[in-house]
Amino acid sequence: MDDREKDRNEEKDRVNETAEEPTVLDVEKENGEGQPSDEKPDSKDDEYEKICYVCRRPESKAGPMITMPGGMNFCHNCMQKAFDTVTQSGLDLSQLQNMPYMNMNLSDFSNLQNLNTEIPKKNKVKKKSQEKEAKKEFSIKDIPAPHIIKSKLDQYVIGQEQAKKVIAVAVYNHYKRAFCQASSQEGTEDEVQIEKSNILMIGPTGSGKTYLVKTLAKLLDVPLAIADATTLTEAGYIGDDIESVISKLLAAADNDVERAEKGIIFIDEIDKIAKKKNTTSRDVSGESVQQELLKLLEGSQVEVPVGSNQKNALTPMTTVDTNNILFICGGAFPDLENIIKERLNQSSSMGFASELKGKYDEDPKLLSYTTTEDLRKFGMIPEFLGRLPIMVTLQALTKELMVRILTEPKNAILRQYEKLLAMDEVKLVFEDDALEWIAEEALKKETGARALRAIIENFMQDIMYEIPKDPNIGSVVITRAYLEKSGGPMIEMRG
Ligand code: ADP
Repeated sequence: MDDREKDRNEEKDRVNETAEEPTVLDVEKENGEGQPSDEKPDSKDDEYEKICYVCRRPESKAGPMITMPGGMNFCHNCMQKAFDTVTQSGLDLSQLQNMPYMNMNLSDFSNLQNLNTEIPKKNKVKKKSQEKEAKKEFSIKDIPAPHIIKSKLDQYVIGQEQAKKVIAVAVYNHYKRAFCQASSQEGTEDEVQIEKSNILMIGPTGSGKTYLVKTLAKLLDVPLAIADATTLTEAGYIGDDIESVISKLLAAADNDVERAEKGIIFIDEIDKIAKKKNTTSRDVSGESVQQELLKLLEGSQVEVPVGSNQKNALTPMTTVDTNNILFICGGAFPDLENIIKERLNQSSSMGFASELKGKYDEDPKLLSYTTTEDLRKFGMIPEFLGRLPIMVTLQALTKELMVRILTEPKNAILRQYEKLLAMDEVKLVFEDDALEWIAEEALKKETGARALRAIIENFMQDIMYEIPKDPNIGSVVITRAYLEKSGGPMIEMRG
């Protein structure tokens, strides 16, 4: 045996040893770590697109993949580049025989299993299914009419009648527009272009802005992403890029691009990106964010990372068309009332109406008089407002509405407690006085309906602890005196 052959054999032994030793990855696999928890071994992988191991583009962008042993995929482009590099450098592969991977038996690729070639499911893009293509031929009748959308919203959202009506019509028109676009792409050219009906929602905190959008998305069965405008900054600065909101929607749609493209994006706290007044430095989290949102709002092709809101070389990218995504921007717009009041009082202090000066000071509907001019004064740029043509205002909740919120919605908080106690065969009743007390307390906190849950949980804690102790208890009546801590609940025994 000559020296070279001896060397080669030693190397072979070493490779085999390394192959048998469990690697960190093997141990992780055995422990069930290193794999995202939602990934089941029997999950249908062919639902997802293959992703190039080098450029990280999915099949739909990079074309058919060449699959290597070990599950690695390469797009033709990257494979060609690899060959070109080898050819141009004049590399003699026969000289590489002492390298562990080049020296292995090429018919046995078991060593490649040790490489972590698996791309986590959250980074994979769903394939466009043929089934869905066929389903795409939906008719206008599939879109629920505005009165149906509103009646469904009524089951959950109390009050805010005007807002629910405007939103129902806007959503109906939005999906009709999407339908028109889909049919005009199929060849039937139409001269009338329906404009996008993105919505601007103005209302005090806790008045139901987020709840309205969440309910809407659930009723329409479309994916929803809720983003906070305060975290957004101009690209290149610390904070989330604008595209991160699209990534969120894609994640909510289970990485199904087609589904995401029909979804809803709610950008909350939009008033926080108003133009900063009296600033000399670059307004990276205010006006610049409004500028960058323009292209998303009007509809564009956005390249987004899949399964992450950070763009980097290792994250697969895909393109999402925002044309049919419904954008709803919401905010409390503090101080806007003063701007409106100032304008209204100014106009009423002239001419015949001058005696009415100050009449708007206590007007509960003040927000509903908002004009684009008021919002411009607040710090929103005209181009941004122009892309949110539908304006909806929500009223601050009154005591009566608070009481209704406690009892009427399908999943009202009190109904939830009633259900919990009904499982112990105990009837829970709230006196009307007690409901009013809860509403009054909530109003004092000035956080809208959000305060209700905290107040109720506070006193229900004791009830939920004490009642199951005695199996003879048949019903509990919560009285105002109990809530005011001047008495106890009325308890009735069974039989
Ligand atoms: P915001 O206007 O600040 O976005 P939310 O929509 O988050 O307020 O409201 C907080 C909670 O209050 C909701 O989860 C919902 O349970 C309740 N709520 C608020 N407004 C209403 C309403 N009009 N009808 C029913 N529940 C409401």
